[in-house]
Amino acid sequence: MALEKKNYDVIIVGASIAGCTAANLYAQKGLKVALVEKKKHLDAYKKLCSHHIQSSAVSVFNKIGLSDLIDKAGGVRNGIDAWACNSWIHMRPDASKSKLPTYGYNIRRKKLDPILRKKTIELSNVDYYPGFIVKELLGDGNCFKSVRVVKDNQSLDLESKMIVAADGRNSVIAKLSGAPKEEFENNRFTFFLGYKDLHNAPTKYSRIWMLDPNFAFAFPNDDGVTELGCFFHNSELEAYKNDPYGTLRDLFKALPNGFDLDSGKPEEDVLQLYKMPLILRPPAYKGIAFIGDAAMSTDPIWGMGCSWAVQSADWLVSLSADSLRSGEGIEKSLTNYRKYHKKHTRWHFLQIRNYASGRKLYRIEKLAFVAASKNGAFANKMYDFISRNISLSEYFSVTNFFRILKIHIGNLFVKTSSAN
Ligand SMILES: Cc1cc2nc3c(=O)[nH]c(=O)nc-3n(C[C@H](O)[C@H](O)[C@H](O)COP(=O)(O)OP(=O)(O)OC[C@H]3O[C@@H](n4cnc5c(N)ncnc54)[C@H](O)[C@@H]3O)c2cc1C
Repeated sequence: MALEKKNYDVIIVGASIAGCTAANLYAQKGLKVALVEKKKHLDAYKKLCSHHIQSSAVSVFNKIGLSDLIDKAGGVRNGIDAWACNSWIHMRPDASKSKLPTYGYNIRRKKLDPILRKKTIELSNVDYYPGFIVKELLGDGNCFKSVRVVKDNQSLDLESKMIVAADGRNSVIAKLSGAPKEEFENNRFTFFLGYKDLHNAPTKYSRIWMLDPNFAFAFPNDDGVTELGCFFHNSELEAYKNDPYGTLRDLFKALPNGFDLDSGKPEEDVLQLYKMPLILRPPAYKGIAFIGDAAMSTDPIWGMGCSWAVQSADWLVSLSADSLRSGEGIEKSLTNYRKYHKKHTRWHFLQIRNYASGRKLYRIEKLAFVAASKNGAFANKMYDFISRNISLSEYFSVTNFFRILKIHIGNLFVKTSSAN
């Protein structure tokens, strides 16, 4: 019996952050989209996430009309307060002075994923296939443009001009296409959970503690929930793994501006993740575009996963919508996307990968943290870098090197004159 066949401009596999963003943006350009998601329920969401979304995501959220919905759902517009080298750094960029985004969002995936998915599937040129799993890629082996999807006893062939893999770090599309994968070690493990009504918890700014080499965080979220947790060096695994809750309780009590976990109510059991290698795949392979975690899954410490998920969707759509509409030059668009993705993420990825080794802070990083604690303008520069709104070379520039030096020399004079 012949299988039912349907035709689209583009098939997107995975209806989470990256996939829904791409579907929205393609639909805005008038393209016909099939959005395939293996989970059946509209309210499904990603549990392994600590919900701090960096500001580099916000311009894409604005493009798809998501920022207003996040605001309405109680998302918290975040800045960052960081404890490093025994001082607090307040990263509070001023919107009237900065051309770059000055806040990101903290919103639980429990809320964000359904809002984004519902918004996406309401669009008239998006056909949603919930509960469908991609079983096979169809093509000549060198270029795949169609997929066979199944749900219960139903089987469908979806045909298109291009497939987009937005199916996360364990991408099935990557496996089916044979796309190569590079894996890099992450020498930290994490415990985290959400808490309600926690006394003295942050309400506006995300609080992070650089405990060198460990890292703790407390993020204020919607509905008064604080998402908190820690990334520990693997050498401490044996000491902590038997009592994750007690570990977090003792840690947060002892931190500067920390808090007593017994003052609040846990929203869930402690989530524990012991292995989280970084994963890198080619952003385009055999006619398939990879976006979000399917292309690059980094160390969650930096909270860049969602931001790069929406940005990579945006880059892809900008570079491929015209060729998909005309049906010409799709291969060239994919090449351009691959180059663009690499150009914008490569150096950040290398820096993140280097820190994921579990190493301690370099001397220059410590000098930068101390300078940022003493100088608000430099703290905001640091924010631009941490949120990946500026490149590594813009951050570690000669100008910034002299800026750090000037702050330290100035500080030396202040110390000397107050000693006199
Ligand atoms: C411990 C931890 C903490 C994190 N904290 C943060 C944070 O604070 N901030 C941040 O920005 N990022 C964070 N991240 C990373 C972030 O969660 C991911 O980067 C982000 O979810 C990637 O989005 P995505 O759309 O690419 O993939 P995913 O969200 O993984 O979505 C993939 C989708 O594809 C679907 N799918 C999979 N296979 C198939 C298939 N065969 N057919 C159809 N559908 C399929 C899945 O059901 C899912 O809906 C964290 C990650 C971890 C592990």
